[in-house]
Amino acid sequence: MNTRTKHRSVPLSSVEIDTSKSYPRRISILGATGSIGESTLDLIGRDPSSYRVVSLTGGHNVTRLAELAVRHHAECAVIADAARYQGLRDALAGTGIEAGAGDEALLDAASRPADWVMAAIVGAAGLKPTLQAVRQGTATALANKECLVSAGAIFMAEVARANTTLLPVDSEHSAALQIMTAVPKERIERLCLTASGGPFRGWSREQMAVAAPEQALNHPNWSMGPKVTIDSATLMNKGLELLEAHHLFSLGPSELDVLTHPQSIVHCLLYLSDGSVLAQMSCPDMRTPIAYSLAWPDRMYAPTERLDLAALGALTFEAPDMERFPALRLAKEVLSAGGSAGTVLNAANEIAVEAFLARRIGFLAIAGLVEATLDGSPDLAMLKPQKVDEVLAIDADARSRARSLLGRFAD
Ligand code: NAD
Ligand code: MG
Repeated sequence: MNTRTKHRSVPLSSVEIDTSKSYPRRISILGATGSIGESTLDLIGRDPSSYRVVSLTGGHNVTRLAELAVRHHAECAVIADAARYQGLRDALAGTGIEAGAGDEALLDAASRPADWVMAAIVGAAGLKPTLQAVRQGTATALANKECLVSAGAIFMAEVARANTTLLPVDSEHSAALQIMTAVPKERIERLCLTASGGPFRGWSREQMAVAAPEQALNHPNWSMGPKVTIDSATLMNKGLELLEAHHLFSLGPSELDVLTHPQSIVHCLLYLSDGSVLAQMSCPDMRTPIAYSLAWPDRMYAPTERLDLAALGALTFEAPDMERFPALRLAKEVLSAGGSAGTVLNAANEIAVEAFLARRIGFLAIAGLVEATLDGSPDLAMLKPQKVDEVLAIDADARSRARSLLGRFAD
């Protein structure tokens, strides 16, 4: 019997999805060679009969992309760096897996018919491919927070227009979705995202001024790609996540908050009008939120450490320090400003993180460069682009201004 169960997707949209789709489900992963991509493939690889892998994409690492494509029997593999096309073709020779390279091939990978796509390219580079998947109506698990920070209004409008199911993968936003499904939206007073505080939580500004990339990359709780790890050290990550939550859940600045929680066990807190506070907890392993997005609206097994609160003994919380971590203040200001401020914040931050990792600027200069770029950008609140290419033009302009300011912050 064909039981066509319909589930409501709350609260991101009023879209309903048909969960009676027969297995195997067709899935694609944009950013397959990264931390989130590999974790997603780890889950899929444990139950191969339930999934068919359509497209896998990577940025530069041809060898790893080819290995993953062969292991997971992908239909096609696409490398973003067009110069590496021949390398990918050679690595896939005789496998029957299609090879592609460059921007158009990335869009093609995102366009191939699939039931579910993981959007895990890092940075604004992920915007166009992710939107392509959204426009196809493919259920989209969104790890790439920069899409929403940079182009949130346009992105969410496309999600609504295409009737796409959008499932946040960021652990705090996945937690929020898990809790919100049980609560009428009008009863939510405040959503509070937790932050680990990163490796420099107890450090003075003087210590942070001379922090090396290796120290900033040494996150106490999470194993992640370099960009998001540096963002976690500056607390820009939590700022980006406020903007992400604003777009995902239609919550305003006064309804969004951040709490430092060094153990990274409670991922989000939802304050309700009757005084209740709902929280979601799990050990810090991205396979839990990825599994939630993969199985949604069902649940699946994830091979993660089980939470042992007695062994942990205590969970602690503190207010974030915006003086030592000005990136969070900047993101809050951008959230209040609206318009294109998020596009500029994101673009300048990408340039700043890249420059810090290349040892061109110091750790404190990351927020300094972002602030200087924002300050040099007139009327961002008034700038409300209607098209992705307009956002990308603002992004490109902000990047070139940030680059031209780099000398001022150079070590
Ligand atoms: P990562 O650096 O490990 O992987 C990024 C992926 O994108 C890789 O496959 C890389 O090759 C690809 N890529 C890089 N530049 C590209 C380009 N210009 N064009 C096409 N592909 C490109 O990053 P990650 O840690 O997996 O994070 C991915 C996204 O998920 C980020 O937006 C991050 O903020 C978000 N996120 C990650 C975590 C985590 O635990 N890793 C948690 C929450 C959110
Ligand atoms: Mg997060």
